[in-house]
Amino acid sequence: MIEVSNLVKVYGTNVALDGISFAAGEREVLGFLGPNGAGKSTAMNIMTGFLSYNSGTVKVGGVDISEKPDEAKKLIGFLPEQPPLYQDMTVREYLNFVYDLKDCKFNREKHIEEICKVTRITDVRKRLIKNLSKGYRQRVGIAQALIGNPKVLIFDEPTVGLDPKQIIEVRNLIRTLGREHTVILSTHILSEVQAVADRIIIINEGKLLADEKTENINRAINENVRYMVKICGPQREVLDAIRAVDGVLHAEISSEREKDSFTYHVESEHSFDMRKNLFFAMAEKNWPIVAMEQEGVSLEDVFIKLTDSKSLAQNTRRGGRR
Ligand code: ADP
Repeated sequence: MIEVSNLVKVYGTNVALDGISFAAGEREVLGFLGPNGAGKSTAMNIMTGFLSYNSGTVKVGGVDISEKPDEAKKLIGFLPEQPPLYQDMTVREYLNFVYDLKDCKFNREKHIEEICKVTRITDVRKRLIKNLSKGYRQRVGIAQALIGNPKVLIFDEPTVGLDPKQIIEVRNLIRTLGREHTVILSTHILSEVQAVADRIIIINEGKLLADEKTENINRAINENVRYMVKICGPQREVLDAIRAVDGVLHAEISSEREKDSFTYHVESEHSFDMRKNLFFAMAEKNWPIVAMEQEGVSLEDVFIKLTDSKSLAQNTRRGGRR
């Protein structure tokens, strides 16, 4: 449904996109993951025809966006990072305005009503946009993207600034939309793409680091578990003792320390719970464990795993790292 090949965008001397290629199929939710400055917004603005590019091709439904921009844009609904809302319009006025702007041919009342229902904004359609909560405003932004029923929906950081309840609502909505549309969403939050995307593309500094099914990324990430452990005892000897515990793959000293304890990062296999072994090994030496906590996986960890380990390459079926 959308095909991007060798896309290059340079701002002055800054290479924002350095030849990225990927494709998204019909009814696929594709997550675009990368830290701030990775090039996500640049790619999305190009795919939606808002921004020019230096080289490469972008095709939407087989239509080249630089050759037939109007035709390609009709196939796309876009929610930019800042939704283009008119604060002094009511929701209904605004959606009617977008309907006219897009020169939509569906039955006006029915189409807008259906979209309000899907995005769950029916209750607020008579209210001024400026009086809505951020969560509702975001849903109005999604509603405008849905007008004309475009096949491809592109959402730039759709949950930024929302509270946890609103985040869940927007994620559920994205999943629902993914049953009928190709959805591409960008985020810098790993758990977000894991929650909604069928496939994840990771970009960093304008380059593609990975293009994988979500389950493969999860497998690569979840191979091992990391714990943060605080133990009272002589640092070096404690470290050696941790490393000798059955099930521990890797242990290192953290720079963090308290008055009478040191902190260690301990990695073990996912399938083997080494915590009891660690407890008894430390108890035998009279070194109390004062804290133990499983560490979450950060985007940085994923980058390190994907760039360092071969685990992903073994799982790769679709080209993987480029
Ligand atoms: P992301 O959306 O992943 O945060 P962006 O696409 O916004 O990343 O930015 C990618 C890179 O391009 C960054 O280095 C950013 O500073 C630069 N950039 C973005 N927009 C412009 C612009 N209009 N002019 C110059 N540099 C820009």
